[in-house]
Amino acid sequence: MTRPNYPDFVFCVQPFGVVPQWVLEFISETIETEFSSPCRTILPTLLPPWIRKKEHISYYDSDVLAYLGEKLPKDASRIIGVLPDGDLHDDQSPLLGGAGSLFYGTAVVTLWHLTDKTVYIPEGLAEFKRNLRRVVLHELGHTFANHHCHEANCLMDAEFLYTYENPAFCEACQRRISLGLGAGPALLRFALGLSFYRKGDFIRAVEFFREAVKLSPVERVSWFYLGHAYWRLGKAKKAEKCFCRALNRRSLPKTFFYE
Ligand SMILES: [Zn+2]
Ligand SMILES: [Zn+2]
Repeated sequence: MTRPNYPDFVFCVQPFGVVPQWVLEFISETIETEFSSPCRTILPTLLPPWIRKKEHISYYDSDVLAYLGEKLPKDASRIIGVLPDGDLHDDQSPLLGGAGSLFYGTAVVTLWHLTDKTVYIPEGLAEFKRNLRRVVLHELGHTFANHHCHEANCLMDAEFLYTYENPAFCEACQRRISLGLGAGPALLRFALGLSFYRKGDFIRAVEFFREAVKLSPVERVSWFYLGHAYWRLGKAKKAEKCFCRALNRRSLPKTFFYE
């Protein structure tokens, strides 16, 4: 299958804790080859305590994907987290090898299931790399608005992914990638702002809503929420300016209520 000319994306790999260097290099090479775009590894970090669990390690995928959204460098289009240990779960499945969010433009894979002792024998190593390639590309595929696909040999086929010889993105899935579908950076900032707004952290909400309006000044909903966040912080003048932008007018009518 031929690969289309993808636009210039910038990918980042975020190790959570200690991930062997050769694994990180392999992931970057895999991404660079598949998407013909640069990929760099950023400094390792640990998941915050509210995501880390003490008992059996199983991370809730949405927590990790949202947290990765905060880590996404400003110049990057996508970020993929690498967990050296622990399972991932969501509301339906107790065991996931990875997850990808179209909304945040973030993906995560865990090496937990891939890394059993076989990695240290030659055949095991080849198998490990094959499976890691599949899961990395599959989860990144989700960030481009690809759902599960049943086209034979497609990387987005969740059911047969591990039985296909050399899976690739099918034409339809490739098209979504070349259109760059999925979250844009402005939507991501808006989403992050909203999550802080809902937690009552209006200072951080303002921070992200401001980045959202800077990236996409025509998006009225970001101005609207930025206004609300300012209002909650007691900054009425700033709030009013944002509401004006949201309503696309110079001044507010006298009868305008904020709440
Ligand atoms: Zn999937
Ligand atoms: Zn497909």
